[in-house]
Amino acid sequence: MPTERDYYEILGVPRDASEEEIKRAYRRLAMKYHPDRNPGDPEAEERFKEASEAYEVLRDPEKRQIYDRYGHEGLRGTGFSGFRGFDDIFSAFGDIFEEFFGFGRSTRARTRGRPGADLRYNLTITLEEAAKGKEVEIPVEHHDLCPTCRGSGSRPGSAPAICPVCKGRGQVSRTQGFFTMTTTCPRCYGQGQFIVDPCETCQGTGRVKVTRKVHLKVPPGVDTGSRLRLRGEGEPGEGGGPPGDLYVVIHVEPHPFFQRQGDDIFCQAPISFTQAALGAKIEVPTLDGTEILQIPRGTQSGTLFRLKGLGMPRLKGYGRGDQVIEVVVKTPTNLTKRQEELLIQFAEASGEKVEPRKKGFFKK
Ligand SMILES: [Zn+2]
Ligand SMILES: [Zn+2]
Repeated sequence: MPTERDYYEILGVPRDASEEEIKRAYRRLAMKYHPDRNPGDPEAEERFKEASEAYEVLRDPEKRQIYDRYGHEGLRGTGFSGFRGFDDIFSAFGDIFEEFFGFGRSTRARTRGRPGADLRYNLTITLEEAAKGKEVEIPVEHHDLCPTCRGSGSRPGSAPAICPVCKGRGQVSRTQGFFTMTTTCPRCYGQGQFIVDPCETCQGTGRVKVTRKVHLKVPPGVDTGSRLRLRGEGEPGEGGGPPGDLYVVIHVEPHPFFQRQGDDIFCQAPISFTQAALGAKIEVPTLDGTEILQIPRGTQSGTLFRLKGLGMPRLKGYGRGDQVIEVVVKTPTNLTKRQEELLIQFAEASGEKVEPRKKGFFKK
């Protein structure tokens, strides 16, 4: 159950106390009434809980504003219900106590509050970048409390007006026969107030978009659909909750020459039929540059050659896949007279009958 006492009174600070004053006041009370120093003292326990609750509200500009305007009643409307016990307090203020008392994160210091949302970012890279890895700066957009109005949405110096329809309650009741129906106020959408003079920075939303650069190392071997998780780089948490994560989803652009098949890289290499028949050394592009491939005599079109270890790095594991090259024998076209004569001779030597060419039948 939340306390009914005034939060400023509990902490012994004036209503216009700064964040620093509030923190100092809470520190003093937390030291004094800390359960480790007052074992089995219900009075101290009560003071400790009260002070923690007061600090929980007054340290948060949004909660403090609601409390200033509508008191305990207003906070209950937001679902605030104080602390249930010590565990609750220690998990909420783990970091603060660490700072206050210098003791390490106790086992009680579990995270609490609402965790921030996860963010997704789509990153397109080339196949070469996927093979070698890449370092990138990712612009991450997230929402932060507006620094001008500190989240109130009103221009500094102006105050929001109490909603005339619901008189600030945020809800309206209507009586129908025996029943009273309570609905969210249609004028202020349950806010209990509306902004008369909106803050210029955030247009009255109380929040601003902030772009932050996050450094990412893309590991070698990623593929389309790979998800890289950057812990804690998502939206900030609320009420002491942990921030969300940033997921970077990789898309690898199609390559004009290489196709990826798992960790292997596949490509086709055209060779002439004389190279296929007589054997040749050809230069093939690889992810690392070029490589000389020995084509043995009498190679058929469609034969596969494998260059070991020149494929993609294995993302989960060691080493690299292979590069697989399919040779494609190109049939010569647009023969010169001399080439044609030689081919006819070649055919005759192979015992083939050569039909005399019908001049001008297909051409022109
Ligand atoms: Zn603002
Ligand atoms: Zn209203």
